[in-house]
Amino acid sequence: MKIKFWGVRGSIPTPISGAIVEDKIRAALSMAKPGDISSPEAVESYIRTLPFSVRSTYGGNSTCIEVVTDTSDEIIIDAGSGIRNLGRELMKGDFGKGRGLGYIFLTHTHWDHIQGVPFFLPFYIKGNCFNIFSPFDDIKERLDYQQVPTHFPVTLDYMPAEKKFYRLEHEEEFVLNNTRIINKRMPHPGGAFGYRLEENGKVFVYTTDCEFNIDHIDLIDTYREFFLNADVAVFDTQYTFEESIDKMDYGHSSASIAIDIAVKFNIKRLILFHHDPDYNDIKLDNVLANARTYMSFNRHVGKLRVDIAHEGLEIDL
Ligand SMILES: [Zn+2]
Ligand SMILES: [Zn+2]
Repeated sequence: MKIKFWGVRGSIPTPISGAIVEDKIRAALSMAKPGDISSPEAVESYIRTLPFSVRSTYGGNSTCIEVVTDTSDEIIIDAGSGIRNLGRELMKGDFGKGRGLGYIFLTHTHWDHIQGVPFFLPFYIKGNCFNIFSPFDDIKERLDYQQVPTHFPVTLDYMPAEKKFYRLEHEEEFVLNNTRIINKRMPHPGGAFGYRLEENGKVFVYTTDCEFNIDHIDLIDTYREFFLNADVAVFDTQYTFEESIDKMDYGHSSASIAIDIAVKFNIKRLILFHHDPDYNDIKLDNVLANARTYMSFNRHVGKLRVDIAHEGLEIDL
């Protein structure tokens, strides 16, 4: 399966400001030596040497992940503002011709996970068909509510693509060709669900909006089957460890607890995700660096690899 990140931010979309772009240019120019900018090729290779926070940005769109299975099924997990750009990309293919078939899995309906729906262009094309899954039994009503005329001029029903809603039982196994998809309820205010996707021996776990802290550690074994041996796990690490203590019960975790869980359940690659809207790119560079330092103190870490999500990140599993 192929995984692509279209939105990685939690809580609210955070467009980058002009002042921050200037800061990046200033930083890049101040670090450059004459040879670094002597030709277009030199500039290209110099850019690759810069820290991620200087040469790029982690992105401001709220959560949306695309998974294309080995059987070419289009799966979308969460529909934050990132789904808008995904929709624009999908319009170049069958979805632009009204022949698209997609599967959308929603973790929950906090705004940052559904706010892109009204701007998802394939929903405006007659002939497209989307199967929408969630363990919540009123998911259609929740999406309708987002688009009542006082909030948005186009209702969900007026968007002409066919939308079929399915309620998943808790921990139900849903099979789509060779892919098994299992949901798991996560500790989060109002409830949220993680998804585990298994296809051809590869395992991808997506669990955003989950608060695991010292109070939950006794319960962690109830998540064993869900996390066990994941090749890639995307995990809510909105806060630093210190903030996670200050913000106990806000519903989010830190990188250190994510690493502890990854080690315990033999996860091979952990992706830090659901970045706090107040964290700029430099801070997110530091979140990753601190996570890797924390990992280096754990002698049971094995071959665990830790990365941080950015818009456009692609993983081939
Ligand atoms: Zn969220
Ligand atoms: Zn939430």
